[in-house]
Amino acid sequence: MNYNIALVPGDGIGPDVTAESVKVMDKVGEKYGHKFQFTTVLAGGAAIDAEGTCLPRNTVDVCKNSDAVFLGAVGGWKWDTLPGDQRPERAILGLRKELGLFANLRPALLFEELAGACPLKAEIIEGGLDIVVVRELTGGIYFGEKGYKNTELGRAAYDVEQYSEEEVKRIAVVAFDMAMKRNKKLISVDKANVLESSRLWRSVVTEIAKGYPEVALNHMYVDNAAMQLVRDPKQFDVIVTSNLFGDILSDEASMITGSIGMLPSASLAKGNFGLYEPIHGSAPDIAGQNKANPMASILSFAMMMRYTFGLTNEADEIEKAVKSVLGKGCRTADIMSPGYELIGTKEMGDRIVKAIDEQ
Ligand code: NAD
Repeated sequence: MNYNIALVPGDGIGPDVTAESVKVMDKVGEKYGHKFQFTTVLAGGAAIDAEGTCLPRNTVDVCKNSDAVFLGAVGGWKWDTLPGDQRPERAILGLRKELGLFANLRPALLFEELAGACPLKAEIIEGGLDIVVVRELTGGIYFGEKGYKNTELGRAAYDVEQYSEEEVKRIAVVAFDMAMKRNKKLISVDKANVLESSRLWRSVVTEIAKGYPEVALNHMYVDNAAMQLVRDPKQFDVIVTSNLFGDILSDEASMITGSIGMLPSASLAKGNFGLYEPIHGSAPDIAGQNKANPMASILSFAMMMRYTFGLTNEADEIEKAVKSVLGKGCRTADIMSPGYELIGTKEMGDRIVKAIDEQ
């Protein structure tokens, strides 16, 4: 089968890690008889330099006409002095909006082979961790009314947290579907003891739960969830939450795995369309030096196989190859510890391709 993928390498280590993912895509295509066709487009700083804007119209059009979008990372020191609305990172917000990407899936997966990188005590993470945070991505306080006004206490600023029933429903459905594919456990995180928007969130999630009798749904206040994630992370399987709470909790969940270079993400629209990218940024400090860990990017490709193309065996195969290479002791600098073999970005890509070949 043919799949059209918009490739957005971006800036910094974006092109470094994307190149390794493309090697893996070619290998998976060859092994399983698929044709992954790429159209490479500009976004972020690279697009600012070439076309004066971080998200050229052609990029949006190519992404919209593709089956899925694969992104490296955007941003870097060179563009740090630009005003906020002209910075490379605006390209990501623009793509989310243009492509209707309302659900962000972030797995926080601690490979047993990397347990040493986790800042939590060994007994807390025994057997590894496998959590998915489903974050609402296009609503809530980041997109609500905002502004300044003068008050008798001086200037005041406000940002409105608002959720409609429909917005909560569609993210809840993504989360319940995800729970059904995993361990049938869902925790919905809100602040319903204080916020009206959270009370609506909770009641809509509870209604949707009626359609998923096999899923055990629990609700948790966000302050408690932040604490429980470090106290007993294994109680979580799928977490669903709002844009703001999800932003914070997904970073917390990923950092307890201790390895920013290992974590993929997916942002999904209605249907199967999605944008896939590693959670890390453009890491300008190591860009172009063959030092970046390409595994987060390669695992993002596995997510694309699973969630957009429904190619479960291919996704399993990529994840297995990553695990096998880690099991053989290969490490990039970010996950290196004494006694292991230090290799570069390209070698890591090659080893994963070889592992897929040999599986
Ligand atoms: P970062 O994730 O780029 O880097 C943080 C640290 O982690 C750095 O020391 C970096 O070397 C290291 N690191 C990150 N990814 C790595 C990998 N794959 N392998 C090895 N080490 C890795 O975050 P930052 O430094 O805060 O941001 C740098 C730039 O990236 C900024 O311009 C920021 O706005 C942008 N950014 C972009 C995205 C995105 O494109 N989605 C996300 C976050 C940050």
